[in-house]
Amino acid sequence: MAESVIDVIDLKRIYRTDHVETHALAGVDLTVRRGEYVAVTGPSGCGKSTLMAILGLLDDSSAGQYRLAGQDVANLRERDRASFRNRHIGFVFQAFNLIGDLTVAENVGLPLIYRGGIGKAARDERVAAILSEIGIVHRAQHYPAQLSGGQQQRVAIARALVTEPDIILADEPTGNLDSRSGEAVMELLEDLNTRKGATILMVTHDLHFARRARRVVRLSDGQVVDEGFGEAVVALHPEDDDRTGAV
Ligand code: ADP
Repeated sequence: MAESVIDVIDLKRIYRTDHVETHALAGVDLTVRRGEYVAVTGPSGCGKSTLMAILGLLDDSSAGQYRLAGQDVANLRERDRASFRNRHIGFVFQAFNLIGDLTVAENVGLPLIYRGGIGKAARDERVAAILSEIGIVHRAQHYPAQLSGGQQQRVAIARALVTEPDIILADEPTGNLDSRSGEAVMELLEDLNTRKGATILMVTHDLHFARRARRVVRLSDGQVVDEGFGEAVVALHPEDDDRTGAV
């Protein structure tokens, strides 16, 4: 069995306000192995965003264990977080999060600059290779605003991949796209997984896409309630899909 990239045991996240305690994650166990493509789904408010923020080292858990790429990161010091994130995680967000006054090539090269230790020539070469792999090399000198949403998300995926991370965390990657562009982005992610062995954990409430992941983890009230092969889990819970208007 492949080694695990993400190993989470009894993860909890409690939000406290003056009068209310919300148990957004109430003891999540989750393992993602190298080469897997896992979708996290579940109704609105079940804890998907909270889980992704903690897995992405953007937020702290209240309790539980988290090992990322074999290292205990639950108690990582603040200053070690950014570099750990940069080395091990590629992010793809719903809103693309590209920098508007940088070109496509500059956006994609940015994580390599943050990482350091790579000269400009090697960086340019790596960026060109990844843009060509993603099929967007002809847009290298364009600015994000000159691209369609689908193209911007492809650039964001290139940026996530450029550092060859252990895992790609994709949070509703098709949420801002029309169905055709969303389909193309999903095909790209699937292709990166099957052809290049990229490990992907994706949050989606779009069951059409969730069912195509090889494994689906379903959250409800901050806990994993179902886990299995895509279609088997998704078919049980059509109410998760916001498009049905049932949530
Ligand atoms: P999902 O992404 O599945 O919609 P979230 O992770 O955003 O779910 O939210 C899980 C629960 O935690 C919800 O009940 C939500 O209201 C609560 N929550 C999320 N963020 C905060 C916060 N910053 N402060 C207080 N409660 C929060």
